Amino acid sequence: MNELIESQRNYFQEGHTRSLKARKQTLRKLHNLLLENETLLAEAIYKDFKKNRMVTVENELSLPYGEINVAIRRLRKWSRSRRLVTNLSNFPASTRSIPVPYGVTLVIGPWNYPYMLSLIPAISSLAAGNTVVLKPSEVTAHSSAALASIINSNFPRDLFYMQEGGVPETTALLEQKFDKIFFTGSTTVGRIVMKAAAEHLTPVTLELGGKNPVIVLPDCNLKRTAQRLAWGKLHNNGNACVSPDHVYVHEDIKDALIAEIVKNLKKITGSDSRTSPLLPRMVNEKNFDRVLRLIDPAKVVAGGTSDREERYIEPTVMDGVTQDDPIMKEEVFGPVLPILTYSNLESLVETLKSQPAPLALYIFTRNLRKARKIMTEIPSGGGMINEVVMHFINMNAPFGGVGESGMGNYHGKAGFATFSHFKTVMSKPTWFELFLKYPPHRKIYLKIYRSIIGRRLMNFWH
Ligand code: NAD
Repeated sequence: MNELIESQRNYFQEGHTRSLKARKQTLRKLHNLLLENETLLAEAIYKDFKKNRMVTVENELSLPYGEINVAIRRLRKWSRSRRLVTNLSNFPASTRSIPVPYGVTLVIGPWNYPYMLSLIPAISSLAAGNTVVLKPSEVTAHSSAALASIINSNFPRDLFYMQEGGVPETTALLEQKFDKIFFTGSTTVGRIVMKAAAEHLTPVTLELGGKNPVIVLPDCNLKRTAQRLAWGKLHNNGNACVSPDHVYVHEDIKDALIAEIVKNLKKITGSDSRTSPLLPRMVNEKNFDRVLRLIDPAKVVAGGTSDREERYIEPTVMDGVTQDDPIMKEEVFGPVLPILTYSNLESLVETLKSQPAPLALYIFTRNLRKARKIMTEIPSGGGMINEVVMHFINMNAPFGGVGESGMGNYHGKAGFATFSHFKTVMSKPTWFELFLKYPPHRKIYLKIYRSIIGRRLMNFWH
């Protein structure tokens, strides 16, 4: 690993990643390789958790394609140095902010979108002019191997290399000195990554998980709310970091909402959800058992069946859930939707304010003013009003967590910025020198400042 990082560092220092032309070529090549190898990638992910080809192209590959296209189109603009205001005591000078790549970067990916969540940060890093070591998840071993075979046989190892492996390999990588680490995964492992990065003072971006709450107000559009919640919960079989984790619904509309959600779940999956091409399986027995343990059969109002051999869990709705239930103690990360009720919105908001900040907060109401107010009061990485999940795919908006759900953000321009250091450079001509800089510092100077420059201009002095 040491040799890998050193050779990437040499490659970076030799300047191979500096030119925008070279970066664009790398991105174009990656785009073409993904396109050419869609079948290989789709077959591999199907072996991991039965994600079908259409869904794979739609939510694993289309976003990296988009991210590459946006980066190629806007790279010149993003890379431009920007003029900043120069303060008066530095007159005459010009100040610029110049984005420069960090150097050798490490991207660690999770299993739940093994292609998308590994590729998007890698694309941003390459666009910003870094070299990349990409460590995908060992949980989706087929997908990781397929992507690694494509990348490692087509890119110079010094520029872009995929290091497969689990905890031992990641631990060994984390002992190395990287110039930037981008991690997507659980909060627990996020802490390990940050601790390791601290040893080398390496900056980190952490994209972590959490329990994303949904608040449904009595004035919502009930049918649309239920439709979107059902879709959002089934997206990637509930294995999404922005998945609606649980629902707080006003007690007056609880029964109606549940009935509509159940109707919509069936509409999306068909009468037998086991045969739905949209639903991948739980990724392994460990996750299957974990989610099953969270289901309290006494509270199930729809679904609830499962098949361990198939790692299949029927989309399930639980009613009458309270904060004490096991399902409220951890991120659900599966096709199970717990419903809780509230009667007093203010006290619900107070409760949520004191909980760990989730990655996303969702509010359903026709009262946008109220929704925006709640959005500003409850901490969360991001959120949506009257919709779920979809904000993730807006590449024009920074995406990221806060507190326990992470730090830093990415996507589009924000991704480029995440993998760049913004260097402030001031440039001064030599024809003028400010004599006030030099000793002796006489009291009269202060008087000169005040009388000549005046109080108003003093505001711009520093
Ligand atoms: P995970 O934390 O178990 O694994 C993520 C990566 O860390 C993997 O590559 C894994 O090999 C590595 N890893 C695991 N244990 C490690 C250890 N002890 N030391 C060093 N490295 C280790 O996460 P996961 O199960 O792959 O993904 C699910 C989690 O990721 C969920 O919590 C989900 O919410 C979160 N997630 C967040 C985002 C986001 O954008 N914020 C996106 C997807 C998933």
